[in-house]
Amino acid sequence: MLADNHKKLLENIEAAADRAGRDPQDIQLVAVTKYVGLNEIKEAAKVGIKDFGENRVQEANEKIKQFPELKWHFIGHLQSNKAKDVLPCYTLIHSLDRLSLAKALQRCGERFDLKANVLVQVNTSGEESKFGLAPDELPRFLEIIKNYDRLKVKGLMTMAPFYDNPEETRPCFRELCRLRDQYSSTDYNLEHLSMGMTNDYMVAIEEGATIIRVGSALFG
Ligand SMILES: *Cc1c(COP(=O)(O)O)cnc(C)c1O
Repeated sequence: MLADNHKKLLENIEAAADRAGRDPQDIQLVAVTKYVGLNEIKEAAKVGIKDFGENRVQEANEKIKQFPELKWHFIGHLQSNKAKDVLPCYTLIHSLDRLSLAKALQRCGERFDLKANVLVQVNTSGEESKFGLAPDELPRFLEIIKNYDRLKVKGLMTMAPFYDNPEETRPCFRELCRLRDQYSSTDYNLEHLSMGMTNDYMVAIEEGATIIRVGSALFG
């Protein structure tokens, strides 16, 4: 049951925040709906969830059309030629992972007179299958996109590898938090850390996540 799952999730968020001496209000839940349909989204909206995450442009279109009043987050790998489809519809793009995409978003922003809220995705695990900048590429990347006036950089995002023991994800999340502290500046208030999924969101919260992206724990 979604309502029960949601209640349990909120309890866990609160407990993890407590353990870290944080205010649970500072942790935003994005319900990831990539595996579910319109009915589940409607139900989730009913229990009070307002932020939703999708990772595929095409599949998400219909959902966004049906629920334009909800806030949509783009969390997947984004092809540069789809930037124009994503920019107008999403409140936050979590997956800015390369310069060519930054350029595409900047161009679309100019063309449509829009700004894109973005998080820079960092590959904190070094796994080859993961998208994202290497941590040591981050300062130069931030320096370059500082000049892209259509991008509003709101923070950083990472995905930890899947481990049976979620405790093992902790170094990835700690690294993202360290990068945020190191590279926040007058140019960038890297306010948000989008990290933590069903398997590891409690560890992520303990390490400073401000946005968690949860699918399975909500929708089964
Ligand atoms: C699918 C997905 C999630 C949610 O995964 P669950 O394990 O179902 O919570 C979070 N973030 C990204 C980037 C995803 O692709």
